[in-house]
Amino acid sequence: MRAVITGGAGFVGSHLCERFLAEGHEVLCVDNLLTGSLRNIEHLAANPRFRFMEHNISEPVEVDGAVDAVLHFASPASPADYLAHPIPTLKVGSLGTHNALGLAKAKEARFLLASTSEIYGDPEVHPQREDYWGHVNSIGPRGCYDEAKRFAEAITMAYHRFHGVKTRIVRIFNTYGPRMRLNDGRVLPNFMHQALRGEPITIYGKGEQTRSFCFVSDLVEGIYRLLLSDYSLPVNIGNPTEITVSQLAREIIDLVEGTKSTVVYHDLPEDDPKRRKPDITKAQTLLGWNPTVDRADGLRRTLEYFRTVL
Ligand code: UDP
Repeated sequence: MRAVITGGAGFVGSHLCERFLAEGHEVLCVDNLLTGSLRNIEHLAANPRFRFMEHNISEPVEVDGAVDAVLHFASPASPADYLAHPIPTLKVGSLGTHNALGLAKAKEARFLLASTSEIYGDPEVHPQREDYWGHVNSIGPRGCYDEAKRFAEAITMAYHRFHGVKTRIVRIFNTYGPRMRLNDGRVLPNFMHQALRGEPITIYGKGEQTRSFCFVSDLVEGIYRLLLSDYSLPVNIGNPTEITVSQLAREIIDLVEGTKSTVVYHDLPEDDPKRRKPDITKAQTLLGWNPTVDRADGLRRTLEYFRTVL
């Protein structure tokens, strides 16, 4: 198989490139390096089945030769990043998805969209099932990401229904692991960075909001299975073990032995989802998928990585 992976130099994208190469496939990684980094893929550069194209997928793209799969992972994904780049975020979710779908259609390739639990906004249904339509503020600070991804899902379904493209949609819940950017602003890199430097751990709000954290290798396994499946409606992939942000802070402080960090409280950002946890029944029954890496192990492996980049 020859796969085009947009956003392949990002956190999740680089793990996907690695997985496809390990399965014996060819990979063309397309990335404009807005939030991705060549460091994430430098260990793949010597592989003759790997190619990198520096390109913004929001602009039309030309790819020579056959393509069997297009995986569209390009987008800023951390709230801090999409707040800093709202227009590129809207463009890559809309124009970028259109271009990636056009490539898949022209090459008669499968298409997989990286969608998100942000489709559900600040959810009023818990845990979140794929048939929940969501509770999104289109004009709030997170709207640029949420609505771009909602548009991306809509155009993906239109290409499926109207053009017959074989499409897949994965709704990714909070994911963590090596190659997250230390300064991407998300809770886990923030807390680990702060604990390693002995700086205050910044809890937003009272820390009672919840998230459910999935280790990146589990996510990649789910995505790989979904791509090979025949299922074209959205599938949640995430770890359903839910914890509060305060609990996460405690676990990270305990993990970083000898840290002098204490906890400080900042304002809760606008529209910050209060609870988030995937219902993964679909992934379990359709794909036979379950997360396998528990949080203690995943946090330890992620901390080891952050120590190397500090
Ligand atoms: N958060 C926090 N301190 C930080 C960064 C984030 O308390 O330094 C909180 C944030 O308000 C949210 C949760 O952690 O409730 C997860 O935030 P993140 O930015 O990782 O992503 P989200 O799940 O909101 O997309």
